[in-house]
Amino acid sequence: MERRPDLYLGCPNCGEAVFFIRLPGKSPAFLRVDSAGNVLLKKPLPEGETIAGRALHCTACGWNGEAAELARPA
Ligand SMILES: [Zn+2]
Repeated sequence: MERRPDLYLGCPNCGEAVFFIRLPGKSPAFLRVDSAGNVLLKKPLPEGETIAGRALHCTACGWNGEAAELARPA
């Protein structure tokens, strides 16, 4: 994915803009969140899976939380 930090929300701890969610028994799903709050998945989720209610995990540090907690680009 292209790095456009101006367009994506970042980790409130380290500023990284790529996150993942854990899907039990499956590979994690990687995503970004754009400045309008839309979740942009790198690949479609497996059938029957949803991001609703799942924590976002920063790919660069130990932070995890919700999309609403992400930081706007400076
Ligand atoms: Zn981070």
